[in-house]
Amino acid sequence: MGKPFNFILISRSGGGKGTQAEFIKKEFSNLYHFSTGDLFRDLQEQDTDTGYRIREILNKGGLPFDFLAITLWMHKIAYNLKRDQGLLADGFPRRLNEAKILDEFLDFLERKENMKVIYIDISEKEAFGRLTKRRICKKCKKLVPYVLPYKNWEKCEECGGELEQRSDDKPEAIQGRMDYFRERVLEILDYYREQGRLIEINGEQSIEDVWRDIKKAIEK
Ligand SMILES: [Zn+2]
Repeated sequence: MGKPFNFILISRSGGGKGTQAEFIKKEFSNLYHFSTGDLFRDLQEQDTDTGYRIREILNKGGLPFDFLAITLWMHKIAYNLKRDQGLLADGFPRRLNEAKILDEFLDFLERKENMKVIYIDISEKEAFGRLTKRRICKKCKKLVPYVLPYKNWEKCEECGGELEQRSDDKPEAIQGRMDYFRERVLEILDYYREQGRLIEINGEQSIEDVWRDIKKAIEK
């Protein structure tokens, strides 16, 4: 049996990473998937000194201690990823040193050969437009992205609920996410690209077309 695939998904907020992660999970059933966003949300609930600081940072802005994200996801992988399972990394690496450490860790696990680094590329302008225009269903809380076919929905087509803007999609918060991507994540893309390991997907097309391109690239 060959070693399972390990996916790293990178995109700006609004690039459709979450949706494509679901497609990948459906296609490759035995995948261990987690996001660093969830890890930090979980951490801020903890009654610990670290939990307190993370709450403070998430509320007021600022950056967590450099090695915290690495420690959290490495711990998560070490204690959960089964030998026959593939990995789906969502929201990390977010900095160049994290990319290098993830490489070394996956190399240690003899998984580096089967890595697929997928970048769903949408421009800052497109991302900004999608994030300010996306909506959420009041009833079932489904996030309704501003891409076809969803952007034409007048109400939730899954439950009939009313759609509204999300309160945390404020322009300043979105700008902050864009700045972070430009300052930190772009150099990660260069790192993978220089090694010929980056799969670049045009994210400015329908969800189905993005998935078709990802699938084609994985199967190559
Ligand atoms: Zn709904």
